[in-house]
Amino acid sequence: MDINKFRVPEGEKLDLNDHQTDFTADYTAKDDAVKDLKRNIKRLRKLQSVLYADNKHSLLIIFQAMDAAGKDGAIKHVMSGLNPQGTQVFSFKKPSAEERDHGYLWRCMKATPEKGRIGIFNRSYYEDVLVVRVHPVILQTSQLPDKIKNDPDIWQKRFEQIRNFEKYMTENGVHVLKFFLNVSKEEQKRRFLSRIETPEKNWKFSEADLKERGYWEDYQTAYREAIEATSSERSPWYILPADHKWFTRLAVSEVIVKKMKSIDMSYPEVSEEHMKSLQAAKVILENGG
Ligand code: ATP
Ligand code: MG
Repeated sequence: MDINKFRVPEGEKLDLNDHQTDFTADYTAKDDAVKDLKRNIKRLRKLQSVLYADNKHSLLIIFQAMDAAGKDGAIKHVMSGLNPQGTQVFSFKKPSAEERDHGYLWRCMKATPEKGRIGIFNRSYYEDVLVVRVHPVILQTSQLPDKIKNDPDIWQKRFEQIRNFEKYMTENGVHVLKFFLNVSKEEQKRRFLSRIETPEKNWKFSEADLKERGYWEDYQTAYREAIEATSSERSPWYILPADHKWFTRLAVSEVIVKKMKSIDMSYPEVSEEHMKSLQAAKVILENGG
């Protein structure tokens, strides 16, 4: 699959209309995609094992999307089969009182993956240039000096802070991938209706989801500007078609596999001394030790 199609080039104008939400590449049947997803998960498992043993790099994968675009399902499916000890998932909701008492990057900085680990952010510091931008009252009621709250350049400044933070991460061995699961408004409606009509899915729907849907266009604009300003060579955004969940999951796995393959990592080399002690232990065990 040509994943470059989904990658947002650094410094270029972005038009979300150029990104088809129901694209499925050459796949006509879900089964073929599921088969390829399974193959990728096997690859990921092997790559993760090297990442873990090497213990020098880590991978941070950020998921952002409108409600019901399939973040949870993509995380569940793509990360299934990985060693749980080597993965960490954090979901960022409305900030707590303690979180509100710090800068917006603070809670995410604390959650960045340890060496050798794959970290997933289900939402992230990008919410602070998305939901916070769409609802000005959030910023106005935050504990920031008035001068900052009322700065007309606040979003440009935050984009720069985010770029700098991501530069810092990548220059310290934390590789960053960012996914925007791009669902259509029609498909969101279908999924909301299904959440209302299926008892087992009722818990997934809240009135707030419908309220946010009313701000669809504002969110599209906020997403476009944030992605355009923060996609870079080192930490690129991928806009993934999200109307077909099976395709989204496969595309996510494809991008992660390619990224991990590009990381210069290996199993640690065993020193001569260690090799000798292994051989000595073998002899002892084989002689009834
Ligand atoms: P689901 O797909 O299961 O609904 P979710 O990620 O939407 O998952 P929710 O608990 O429904 O989880 O919603 C979390 C909400 O918190 C989102 O509406 C998000 O915009 C909001 N949120 C996240 N970060 C911030 C922030 N910094 N300031 C204000 N709201 C935030
Ligand atoms: Mg929600």
